[in-house]
Amino acid sequence: MIQVSKYLDNVYVLQDQAMSNSILVIGKKRALLFDTGCGMDAIREVVESITDLPLLVILSHGHFDHIGGSCQFDCAYLAKEDRVILEEYDDELINVWLNELSDKSIHFKSNGWKQIKDLDFHEFDLGDCIGKIIPLSGHSKGSIGVYFPSLKIRLKGKNRNNFRSIGVYFPSLKILLAADALSPVMCMMFLNHTSLEEQLDTLYKVQNLDINAFITSHSPVWFDKSLIDRMILCIQNCKGKRFHPYQYPKPPHVSGYIYVDSIEEEPVGLIVESEDMSIV
Ligand SMILES: [Zn+2]
Repeated sequence: MIQVSKYLDNVYVLQDQAMSNSILVIGKKRALLFDTGCGMDAIREVVESITDLPLLVILSHGHFDHIGGSCQFDCAYLAKEDRVILEEYDDELINVWLNELSDKSIHFKSNGWKQIKDLDFHEFDLGDCIGKIIPLSGHSKGSIGVYFPSLKIRLKGKNRNNFRSIGVYFPSLKILLAADALSPVMCMMFLNHTSLEEQLDTLYKVQNLDINAFITSHSPVWFDKSLIDRMILCIQNCKGKRFHPYQYPKPPHVSGYIYVDSIEEEPVGLIVESEDMSIV
């Protein structure tokens, strides 16, 4: 079952059974679906129950919990730098993972991922707003975000509360959909991850981007841009610090090393594949 949360009147967060969030942004002429979940829920049905506009499907990166649902669509765009990840996934492996995550029996078919096309454009128009593709390499080499420099907001009633925490009440918002690339606990141990240096460059780039807020895939809140400063500090501070062994509790069950830099309202830390990576 997909859980639907209306964050704004034109922005929905669709959370699947694997707790992976896909974001639906509805424009005047088209809608964007950013990520598709792990593939065990009927995400297409849910999207079509919300909007009948033509749909543009863009994948934030190539990890299975973001691309699995792409099989339900004719076309989904993925940065070509993450295509190597698809070669690591066979249906048998994905089925083992999905059946572990679901309480029902799942029969997943990737169809050879033939619906996944190379992301070959830098921006798109939903009719009343432009979305720009922002490379966010680190969590994976081909991680991208979608930046809306001026998303008209339609905020009614209780949806205003979603933005109260960051105190913005503008007629339009500058937001970045960032998926796993900007998770406050930055995870660089999964397939096709890059280096801490590259993650740091990505954070500097986002620091220079004019945004009011950003949203990631596994936290159900909008983050204030100031969180990026703490993430930068985390990478700067981690040098020479002790990293503790860490086992990811869910599929793909990878192990690595974790460093937590600060707790505050939102914990900020790093998970790396090998201890050598912690030397920046
Ligand atoms: Zn990921």
